Amino acid sequence: MAMTDKTLRIPLTLASPADQMFPRLTPEQIARIATHGHARQVQRGEVLIEAGERTPRFFVVTAGSLEVVRPAGPTEELVAVCEPGMFTGEVHLLSGRRAFVQTRASDTSEVIEIDREQLLALVQTDSELSDILMRAFILRRVELIAHGFGDVVLIGSSHCAGTLRIKEFLTRNGNPYSSIDLDREADVQDLLDRFRISTADVPVLIYRGAVVLRNPSNREIADCLGFNEAIDAVHLRDVVIVGAGPAGLAAAVYGASEGLDVLVVESNAPGGQAGSSSKIENYLGFPTGISGQELAGRAYTQAQKFGAQVIIAKGGTQLMCDRKPYAIEIDNGPRVPARTIIIATGAAYRKLPLPNLSEFEGAGVYYGATFMEAQLCSGEEVVVVGGGNAAGQAAVFLGQTAKRVHMLVRSSGLAESMSRYLIRRLEQSPAIAIRPQTEIVALEGGHHLERLRWRDNQTGAIETHDVRHVFVMTGAVPNTQWLDGCVALDAKGFIKTGPDLSQDDLAAAHWPLGRAPHLLETSVPGVFAVGDVRGGNIKRVASAVGEGSIAVAFVHQALQE
Ligand SMILES: Cc1cc2nc3c(=O)[nH]c(=O)nc-3n(C[C@H](O)[C@H](O)[C@H](O)COP(=O)(O)OP(=O)(O)OC[C@H]3O[C@@H](n4cnc5c(N)ncnc54)[C@H](O)[C@@H]3O)c2cc1C
Repeated sequence: MAMTDKTLRIPLTLASPADQMFPRLTPEQIARIATHGHARQVQRGEVLIEAGERTPRFFVVTAGSLEVVRPAGPTEELVAVCEPGMFTGEVHLLSGRRAFVQTRASDTSEVIEIDREQLLALVQTDSELSDILMRAFILRRVELIAHGFGDVVLIGSSHCAGTLRIKEFLTRNGNPYSSIDLDREADVQDLLDRFRISTADVPVLIYRGAVVLRNPSNREIADCLGFNEAIDAVHLRDVVIVGAGPAGLAAAVYGASEGLDVLVVESNAPGGQAGSSSKIENYLGFPTGISGQELAGRAYTQAQKFGAQVIIAKGGTQLMCDRKPYAIEIDNGPRVPARTIIIATGAAYRKLPLPNLSEFEGAGVYYGATFMEAQLCSGEEVVVVGGGNAAGQAAVFLGQTAKRVHMLVRSSGLAESMSRYLIRRLEQSPAIAIRPQTEIVALEGGHHLERLRWRDNQTGAIETHDVRHVFVMTGAVPNTQWLDGCVALDAKGFIKTGPDLSQDDLAAAHWPLGRAPHLLETSVPGVFAVGDVRGGNIKRVASAVGEGSIAVAFVHQALQE
């Protein structure tokens, strides 16, 4: 795609040089692509991909030109022009989701047309073309996100928990959107009137200028944007993975790349806890660190490249393990049959025992410290609760923009719970104050947190502070309630696997095989548990990723049995 004078110019960053985002293929490369599709002529003005079309096709221009336009109300914006040697598409081609833009012939042209299945086969088998196409698709999506060139407008307030939730959901799903902040933009009454929106309705999501969702749940958003419509959730899979945190995504990448038919079921958005980390510095291969969101986004795209399908915003609500094939019930509805299952449902944040906590969740109380939350509290005092690595990371990150970070730790110090490199960073930051043996005893405010009280447990003294932002980083409890006794759990509710399963556990579960359970296998043969949800797991991204990939080797063995 080449930028023309008429083209809406997208400022390019250093990370996205134009020749990588809009490369021109060589005749040899085009010839290889041609074996996966067919050549055809198109007439001037003919629409090849309609905006909003599902599972669109992929085109390489061999003569003439195509133009890519974005509907913008009654008008349209020219986004790019594809000349000979260039190709259409971005990440939606991998997932089979709807296209954001329209592609049509600006001239009588010749193209090679390929359907999505053939495109997936191409990127899985031709590594040179895979590099070129994947890089261009990802860079194009990054630019769409950076410029809010999606099909969604979010109207809300930055002080509203619902608005923050929706922003986080769209961001973690890599869906570009533009937003209008009612607190900052005074001139929005016309828009509200046009869609008959009252301030009581916010946050409001407008899809393609036509569908209006008032304070929608994540599931409603996923349904409206068609996140799951390309997925067949009824056919028998080699493996169903429940949870798309680092462990589930790793299992999906390894499973799909090794030819397994993989379905992932994720109750929220890809990334899990890691997705809420501002910067992971100890994951191998990223010496300057990587945000959890970026790591998850890459893994999600990688899994889709290999053909894994990911259901978004719908959770596993039951595991049917008393029959073969097994089945996972999704959102109390359809049941997906599975030859094997990998449980990667991780853990959920532990909450503070305060009666009015839920009133302030997302409105002053947060469980992740990413760029989005940091923007909300820039220049203000904040509190971080917790003494582990997640809390230390959040404090260091927020310490760069907040006026002051009070770190409240229940124990007498950090040495036992936090990595040394983080303790040093905390000690060196003038903006951070560590307060051992201190805990929050009250939260106060109206629609947003306005102040809190904390107690020094050594002296019993209670202090009131006008702090409007609290980051709770106090560890997590396993997401195993939905399993309803199907697999053996330890005393804290984590799943027991492999050598941790006692003879009594196996007898109680009626273990039917002559062999002992594999390393990551639960008390049910062919059902595996990986990552934070597994008893004895080391709570790190690397161990979650490692376990997710190792489990696939055992899945192959279970499929042979
Ligand atoms: C703020 C923060 C910072 C961190 N920083 C680091 C770090 O720097 N380095 C490091 O190594 N580790 C870090 N960690 C720990 C690391 O993120 C976790 O160990 C890792 O994410 C665990 O991965 P997981 O896939 O096992 O589980 P999770 O990340 O918990 O993912 C589980 C997924 O399953 C989904 N799910 C839950 N129930 C269901 C259901 N019933 N159906 C479908 N889906 C379901 C969840 O929505 C979630 O997406 C951090 C954690 C946090 C919270």
